[in-house]
Amino acid sequence: MVTRWAVRAARAFDGERFLPGGATVLVEGDRVVGVEAAAFRPADDVPVTEVPGTLLPGLVDCHVHLVSSGAFPGTPGSLEWAGTAAAAAVDEVITGSLRAQVAAGVTSVRDLGDVAYRVLDHRGREGEGLPRVVASGPPITIPLGHCWFLGGDVDPDEPGALHRAVVERAGRGVDLVKVMASGGFLTPGSDQLGAQFDVVPLRRMVEAAHAAGLRVVAHAHSVIGAEVALGAGVDGLEHFTCMAEGATDPPVALLDRVAAAGATVCPTLGNDASRFPPVSAMPPHVLEMLERIGITDRDEHLARAAANSVKLRDHGIRVVSGLDAGAMPAKPHGHLWRSIAELVRGGWPVDEALATATSVAAEDCGVDAGRLAAGRLADLLVVDGDVAADVTALGRPTSVWVGGVAVDLPQS
Ligand SMILES: [Zn+2]
Repeated sequence: MVTRWAVRAARAFDGERFLPGGATVLVEGDRVVGVEAAAFRPADDVPVTEVPGTLLPGLVDCHVHLVSSGAFPGTPGSLEWAGTAAAAAVDEVITGSLRAQVAAGVTSVRDLGDVAYRVLDHRGREGEGLPRVVASGPPITIPLGHCWFLGGDVDPDEPGALHRAVVERAGRGVDLVKVMASGGFLTPGSDQLGAQFDVVPLRRMVEAAHAAGLRVVAHAHSVIGAEVALGAGVDGLEHFTCMAEGATDPPVALLDRVAAAGATVCPTLGNDASRFPPVSAMPPHVLEMLERIGITDRDEHLARAAANSVKLRDHGIRVVSGLDAGAMPAKPHGHLWRSIAELVRGGWPVDEALATATSVAAEDCGVDAGRLAAGRLADLLVVDGDVAADVTALGRPTSVWVGGVAVDLPQS
């Protein structure tokens, strides 16, 4: 017999809006079966857990790299490590990444940087109290292009190669396709300001993915990379840093194009600044790139990136939150709340910022969660404090459920 239980909080966010007076959420099996007012009294045989703080749907991180703990001190090299490590060692890191995510209330993750399809084997571990996983497999890139060391490099000049890359991923059972449309900071020699592919071969690749029922998201740091990816018909743009010589601001015409195309943007905001390497320890290729785009002050640059996120909102672009967890030490797994806090710092209303990591994110990932609503998966989070008044309360989880099963949180 399936038992019914309830959780009650004086503050609640349902994935779209704050519920005045809080809520009593009824759960049966792995689903939410009712969302009532806080004063609602369920039948006598339904146990009710009263929780202080704010009750909300478990968070959804739309951009993670589970194969990397991000823990290599001071260097951005742990993704490279994954490219050469033994499968068992990679599996161990993936499990550790998933544990860190769920302990922080992230109940679904979208992995966009796998190596050797290891992450696919870690889907379906919700029964162990681990997050739901949506995964792209290794990102498609060019020889020696961004993240080539993850094994997804393809020569676009070789006839049929991009098509075969999609067919291989579909055959492996990936949930979506990731392509590197520009270079990136993590890969010396790749060009963040350029485009890795021409629009015609990239469009054929996107069409092949769509024919296989797979969405395509593109890593795009440069304006030109974003333009090529949009021209190719991708469904989502990652980072969308809009870099060009001497600039990191999104051109208005590009924002209009993204909105008209209906593409999702994941701006991968948020860093644990205490884990930034000192400037003196940054690799020369990173310093050179910062100089080319005109960044002299890191804090000022991050503040501007947060402020630019409001332009996405103002243009009606669909935005989801993802930290890029694992990519580097300043982006540890489980710190998605920092992405949401950056949107708020940039000027987003708290409820809309939260939606980018709950209802909107779940929909974008194809996960039947992200809302306190009857029929949805019972992925739930309680945090210590009033999120409406202080969004950083998101960084203080006190209870997490995945599919109605309570997760053991580490004692802090
Ligand atoms: Zn990434």
